Amino acid sequence: MSDTKDLGRIIGIDGPIIKVKGLKNPKIGDLIKIGEDHRIGEIVKIYGNIAISQCYDYTEGLKVDDIVENTNMPLSLELGPGLLNKLFDGIQRPLEEIGDFIELGKELFPLSRKKKWNFIPLKRKKDYIKEGDIIGEVEETKIIKHKIMVPIGYEGEIVSIEEGSFTILDNICTLKDKNNNLKSFQLLQKWPIRFARPIKEYIAITEPLITGQRVIDLLFPVAKGGTVAIPGGFGTGKTVLQHNLSKYCNANIVIYIGCGERGNELTDILNQFPKLMDPYSHEPLMERTVIIGNTSNMPVSAREASIFSGLTIAEYYRDMGFDVCLLADSTSRWAEALRELSARLEELPAEGGFPAYFSSKLSSFYERAGVIKPIGAPERIGSLTIIGAVSPPSGDFSEPVTKTTKRFVHAFWGLDPKLAYSRHYPAINWTNSYSMYDEYVFGWWEKNISNKWREYRKECIKILYISDELQNIVQLVGLESLPINQKLLINIANLIKNSFLIQSAFDDIDAFSSPLKTIKIIEIILNLYKRAEKLIDKIPIFKIMQLDVIENIERAKSTIKNEELDKFNELINKMEMQFNELEQQYRDIIETQKRELKI
Ligand code: ADP
Ligand code: MG
Repeated sequence: MSDTKDLGRIIGIDGPIIKVKGLKNPKIGDLIKIGEDHRIGEIVKIYGNIAISQCYDYTEGLKVDDIVENTNMPLSLELGPGLLNKLFDGIQRPLEEIGDFIELGKELFPLSRKKKWNFIPLKRKKDYIKEGDIIGEVEETKIIKHKIMVPIGYEGEIVSIEEGSFTILDNICTLKDKNNNLKSFQLLQKWPIRFARPIKEYIAITEPLITGQRVIDLLFPVAKGGTVAIPGGFGTGKTVLQHNLSKYCNANIVIYIGCGERGNELTDILNQFPKLMDPYSHEPLMERTVIIGNTSNMPVSAREASIFSGLTIAEYYRDMGFDVCLLADSTSRWAEALRELSARLEELPAEGGFPAYFSSKLSSFYERAGVIKPIGAPERIGSLTIIGAVSPPSGDFSEPVTKTTKRFVHAFWGLDPKLAYSRHYPAINWTNSYSMYDEYVFGWWEKNISNKWREYRKECIKILYISDELQNIVQLVGLESLPINQKLLINIANLIKNSFLIQSAFDDIDAFSSPLKTIKIIEIILNLYKRAEKLIDKIPIFKIMQLDVIENIERAKSTIKNEELDKFNELINKMEMQFNELEQQYRDIIETQKRELKI
């Protein structure tokens, strides 16, 4: 046994919880290597000379007295070029290389040690640099120029920096610090996953994160830097919605964390994503994506690590000045893992059996979202948007995880089993969902897309709400007893649901609705409503709803492509024409009636 290593021995094993005795200097958060095959663990508690750790690998085969080594380092991630286009597990082992089964103890490097990257310096010899300064770039993928930032703890005058082809371990820059010591750094940096990266300041949220989902972009918008929860029972469409967001949102970088859901969902991603194109850059979607996969058949302790690993990678890209969107499916599986571990640690449970610190853990997750100026020069702005799915057992939103999550998010897209059952997807319920970002993002919409965004949004919500209330009356007294203006409103609400809100993820044309297309569809429906309102005294509603332009409007979402929006003008003309014809017909009828009466 070597003297330099800090070694101890296993004295107890309870599932993923390992008790270790004999470590010289254990600290909370230290990374330990357990057993002959170096399974990864983290110290979570210390009692006297006993350290309690959670193991991120399976613990089968470990036994009392097995050796444990404390690395005396916190669990850290490797950050540098090569993260994009990759699939990792919760502690950043590359999954493609591991295959379906994690080979225990095999040391796999998250980032390739061999691949060479072309480094282009943006600084010169004698320049004075500080932590967070951008000193150069590497083209990581066709769409992303990876900014190389001075690691935390480095400051001084550049002694050497050169353009060239480097591996992530080669020195790319050497500086002389204030004590005249030479220090070099590489493309590769490490960062402890439990700590947020430092920032200069938070700044105001102003821009929407465009999702290409109409119900979101118009009714319940999310802002860049915002926080959203997607609660929904089994089968209500959380995963499909999260996949859609990662495909179509207009973030520069997407971090997708598959946390404890079914294994085949990750397989779906792996099959689909490499074939998909980014709708903005028309390059492969994976070029802006990092996937972290912890399926339900991996050890529960790794779920929390996957959440914080995802955050760390997200913040790293945010600090380069990118808009990053982090999606986690699902945070309930993380909460369940915490509950299981807490029970094994014999902690006192709070509501629902979850540990009392669950709420502060959850807030420490969502509070890392925001629009920020990172430290370092040049000054830049980056954002991190966090969107977490929640899977409440039997879809009950009053259970602890959903309830607690609600306290920390500013938008809530409640998925409704009734809508899902009637195949109304995305099944976002318009009565219990909300977004507090409308006031922040309407300026962007009105400046860039349409100055009617807020008006249409209000109108649309109003129609849906009133229609829901009327439906209750209809159930009691029947549709026929409603006044005509209310009958029309119900018809329009149905049109909004079928032609605007419902959006199939599997329709090539409709899966992504550009902001302008979203506006065009709602615009034509609301115009139709206005036009019809003026006529319902004279013309029966069914005549209006039978105009064949209505069928064209219903099909517009899946017949008119984002690139051919002028077809909406044709549709508007057609609508005008058909209304005029209808009016004319009725004028003629009335005229004839009048004449007949006179005779
Ligand atoms: P959850 O993750 O909430 O359990 P899923 O996302 O797996 O639910 O969705 C269940 C099923 O619902 C999908 O397999 C799909 O058939 C359907 N679905 C969900 N969202 C959509 C959508 N936007 N468009 C079409 N079908 C959808
Ligand atoms: Mg799912």
